[in-house]
Amino acid sequence: MDFEKFSAFELIEHFIDNSRYPVLTASFSVNTVVLLYFALKVKPDIEVICIDTGLLFEETYRFMELLKEKWKINLKIIKPELSVEEQAKFHGDNLWEKDPDKCCFLRKVKPLEGYFESKSVDLWITGLRRDQSKTREGLKKVEFHKFAFGGDVIKICPLADWTGKEVWKFIYDKELFYNPLYDKGYSSFGCVPCTNLSVSSDERSGRWQGKSKTECGIHTFTEKVE
Ligand code: SF4
Repeated sequence: MDFEKFSAFELIEHFIDNSRYPVLTASFSVNTVVLLYFALKVKPDIEVICIDTGLLFEETYRFMELLKEKWKINLKIIKPELSVEEQAKFHGDNLWEKDPDKCCFLRKVKPLEGYFESKSVDLWITGLRRDQSKTREGLKKVEFHKFAFGGDVIKICPLADWTGKEVWKFIYDKELFYNPLYDKGYSSFGCVPCTNLSVSSDERSGRWQGKSKTECGIHTFTEKVE
């Protein structure tokens, strides 16, 4: 099947119908909202994973609660082993300044990988889009990935061929909710210490400003096999 020709909804429907344990990872961006709009129609109780680093914006925490209340999302909060204070004690203050890769590994990658392993997740739905940044240009709508622990997962990016404008048009046309951080000028957001306003047309240029880092690691820690 040529999955590149599938619409976002067709792709989500097809893969959820054929999955034993599907999950959707949420950053609570507009991409998350569009994904949820489709996925909840197919599986209203789909697990929506939030990796709560303890450093997210207040607006994001509140938006998460809003979606829980209004759309009854089945939210699974995944937390790192160490609190922010414990991390400072064992790895030094502001690890995100000194070693952001290690900080992202401890606070994002490790908890997510552990969750995938514990549940044997076989379908991972993400809101990645090709036009978000140079590093995402080569995304396929359907990818097969392997974990270091030995399992594998089908990773789908139903919005891979959507532009940012199309996402926003969908949000406005359907009168959907969106994270109020956009109204404050952010075009992409994660943890507070590593998020600034964008400095170029690259939607993710506000992330890890002044560092060579462009991805937190949750989309690069697996081995893509196809
Ligand atoms: S985005 Fe920044 S604060 Fe958040 S886990 Fe990564 S390095 Fe740490």
